[in-house]
Formats: sequence, C-alpha cells, structure tokens
Amino acid sequence: MRSKIVAGNWKMNKTLNESKELANELKTVVSGLTLENTRVIVAPTFVNLTGVSETVEGSVIEVAAQNMHQAESGAYTGEISGEMLKGIGLNSVILGHSERRAYFGEDDALLASKVDAALKNNLEVIFCFGEELEDRKSGNHFNVVGSQVKNGLFHLEASAWKNIVLAYEPVWAIGTGETASAEQAQEMHAFIRSIVEKQYDSGIADSVSILYGGSVKPANAEEIFSKPDVDGGLIGGAALKSEDFGAIIKAI
Ligand code: PEP
Repeated sequence: MRSKIVAGNWKMNKTLNESKELANELKTVVSGLTLENTRVIVAPTFVNLTGVSETVEGSVIEVAAQNMHQAESGAYTGEISGEMLKGIGLNSVILGHSERRAYFGEDDALLASKVDAALKNNLEVIFCFGEELEDRKSGNHFNVVGSQVKNGLFHLEASAWKNIVLAYEPVWAIGTGETASAEQAQEMHAFIRSIVEKQYDSGIADSVSILYGGSVKPANAEEIFSKPDVDGGLIGGAALKSEDFGAIIKAI
C-alpha cells in the first residue's frame, strides 16, 4: 500500500523562533492523532532545518529541505549540497517547485541532475511539476505535465523509484486561492500514474505516492484527498498555521 503524505512547504517564511514555535504546535497536534500509513513532513528554510529537526525529535514529523544544488561540493557560493542535507540528518528534499522553475530558471535538465544528486546521497525526492494557466486553457496540460515528469525522472532505473514522491502542482492554483477541482486533480494523477506504468510497470505506478498541491486548505482537503489517485498534499500557505495544517492532516 502506498503512503499517504501531508507535506508543508514553508518557503521563505518564519524566523528560527517562529519555525520552532510552529514545529512545537504541530508536534502537539500529531501526538493526538493515530496516523496509519500517513507521513507528515515539514520543509522549513535551510537555516532553520536543524532547529526544526531538534524540535520535532521523538515525533512522527519528518523534516525536508526545499531545494539543493546538483554538485557534490565546490565553488558555488551560497549553495547547499545533498551531502550537507544528509549530514544534518535529513532524508528528503523537494525539487522542481514551480517557484524554483519560474524565478530561478530551473529547467528539466537541471532538475534531472538535481534528482540524480539527491538520490546519490540517499535523499528521497519530492518532485514537483505542473502546468501554467495557458497550458490548461489551451488543453495542453497533459503534454506539459507528461514532459516534465519524463524529462525529470524517466532516466531513472526502476529501483530508484522507491525514493520518489510526485507532487502535481498546477501553477495557476499555487498561492492564488484557486484550487483544481477534486476531479481535475484525480484526472491528472491518474494520467501521471498511467505514464509511469507505461515507462516502468504497474508495481511502480501503484506504489508511487502522488501529492496534489495548490491552495489546499481545511475546507477543501477532504474532498481532494478522497480521490483514489490522490495520496495527500503539498501545502504552502495553509502549512504556516498549526490549526490549518493540523486540520489538513486530520482530513487525510
Ligand atoms: C506550494 O507552493 O507548494 C503550494 C501548494 O502553495 P499553496 O498551498 O499556498 O497554494
């Protein structure tokens, strides 16, 4: 059975103290829940990773990074390597977020190399992709998503897929308050699973968790999560408040 996952991407929000406070509140929230086959992940900014990891120690909450550099080490001022993330005890990294693609020029080829570097360092990859509004309006959304998944991941050997989580995040729904309908999410997730099956096999397609991201909030989480191919969510804005994130965890 594939895992259900609720992951919070805190982006460039919260100081160290604020991050620890939120992590502590979430620790209390999850301690009152029975989470069967469900993972809870938070992704604070780089400088707060250690503080948050220490805060959630002993709870089920996992900590992930929001990005990493593709090189092992070297003259890349301001960057962070996979080995460094592993070195502070992390096991997961988000790659390919639409903000990284749009504002930092991360294209498919670069992301494929980041995926390789992460896997080489035994980091699980939460790989994000999703179409823009024009793509959906013009009916090109399956092509766009299909090529992002293929170009970023289909060079991998089958055995690598146990460390891959997919996150479908339509760009038009991120931080806009506009959510894909549960049906739109289901349709795309089923499509993604079908192309993974075609490239690999049904075992991999059935076992990879596919998260939906884009304005998930307490009011819509349950409906979106009820769809058979939606295995949880990658949450932005609503991950910044423990009441909201807690309600979304409960929805799964
Ligand atoms: C995100 O950035 O990954 C995201 C889904 O953001 P939001 O929930 O705010 O739309």
